[in-house]
Amino acid sequence: ADGLRVPGPRCTEANTHWVWFGASGGVVTLFCPQYGIVLDAGSSHTNLYVYEWPAEKENDTGVVKQVEVCKVEGPGISGYSHATEEAGPSLAQCLQQAKEVIPSAQHKETPVYLGATAGMRLLRLQNKSAADKVLSSVENTLRLAPFNFQGARIITGQEEGAYGWITINYLLGNFKQSGWKKLLHSLTSLSETSGALDLGGASTQITFVSKDLSLESPENQLYFRLYGKDYQVYTHSFLCYGKDQALQQKLARDLQTVESSSLLDPCFHQGYQRTINISDFFKNPCTSDKKKELPFRQLYIEGEGDYQKCRENIQTLFNKTHCPYSSCSFNGIYLPPLQGDFGAFSAFYFVMNFLNLTSEPHPLALNKVTSTIESFCARPWQEVKTAYHHIKEKYLSEYCFSGAYILSLLENGYEFTEENWQMIHFLGKIGSSDAGWTLGYMLNLTNMIPAEEPAEPPLSHG
Ligand code: AMP
Repeated sequence: ADGLRVPGPRCTEANTHWVWFGASGGVVTLFCPQYGIVLDAGSSHTNLYVYEWPAEKENDTGVVKQVEVCKVEGPGISGYSHATEEAGPSLAQCLQQAKEVIPSAQHKETPVYLGATAGMRLLRLQNKSAADKVLSSVENTLRLAPFNFQGARIITGQEEGAYGWITINYLLGNFKQSGWKKLLHSLTSLSETSGALDLGGASTQITFVSKDLSLESPENQLYFRLYGKDYQVYTHSFLCYGKDQALQQKLARDLQTVESSSLLDPCFHQGYQRTINISDFFKNPCTSDKKKELPFRQLYIEGEGDYQKCRENIQTLFNKTHCPYSSCSFNGIYLPPLQGDFGAFSAFYFVMNFLNLTSEPHPLALNKVTSTIESFCARPWQEVKTAYHHIKEKYLSEYCFSGAYILSLLENGYEFTEENWQMIHFLGKIGSSDAGWTLGYMLNLTNMIPAEEPAEPPLSHG
């Protein structure tokens, strides 16, 4: 008899997996998966994520897992500002992949969300109507897919920070407080969550629990009640301080003092050359305040490979001269004292992983990290190109700049020091799931994180 057949409320014959017990002939529900899709429409590209969880356990912590990631071909959706109707169709191939991963009986009930980040925030500032058209185009495509379309929108920098923080703490199991850990945390005031450091192409976020959070800057404060516990979280998103826009800002500064159409740049390898078109350069909201009439249309950049000079150059992007609060990061933005461990992901991870600097579980000392980046920057471009011929030239040519920028942001910007540097953990994935804002976004929008701790079930099956 199949006496133990107890599917949850949303399970059907089509989506329930069964296990048969040979001798007695009993059957027990193993799991009944549900799915959700989130598209991360970043500044440089879009990623589609498929998540899976057992329906009957959806409010438990740590049960949602990433089962698929698909990288959309071509640029990010903000790159379609001159061909807005092509933005939606660019997603077709990844949507097809999602259709193949999710059983067809469940397509209709699978929610799909698209969140666009700083690339689209910038396009909206520069050309609101193009940004609206891009969003309509992706919305049309997503509505035509067989899934349950839930919306396509530009998320705020605050949301990006908050959902990134929720994602990593959910995946690290930090919201689950049972047994001795719960007791320990109630007796001490140990930091029990990890901060989140996210670096994209156009913006960067810092988010962490701070016990010193005062009412100085309400726009940087978030309150959450998750699984029966209150969290006071600080967050800030710096638009134009993602690594691609930081490079644009740096070049815009360099252009202020350049005397001819060629520039010797310490942040690129010796022997590396690149040409920049000036015509559109200052249309970008991240550089428009530096707009300057120049007697040439193109700038020829030649690498110099000098890490120290590069750091000095980049440091000028962080204005530390004024602070209207008790403490600041840069540009007059409030930052409470840094507290606890930090998970650093997205481009923080891509760059540090390339440079072999993500050593876990024993993070490297800051001086070792600095000397590694310094030696990498000093290598001639021809040598680098030969050693890493399999890596896209666009990425490869910028690892020196990006490494120096990451150190400058963390040391000069946020004031991490030799002492607390090792509190930063560079991580790409936690288990099978990528660290990023998308999982937290879906957990929140599908109400999968309860405010109160779910009661222990009186009986467990199986
Ligand atoms: P976004 O598209 O805004 O999410 O930003 C992602 C950033 O990471 C961009 O600056 C990309 O150029 C960069 N990126 C993505 N993959 C890699 C990689 N493998 N190596 C270096 N940078 C990367």
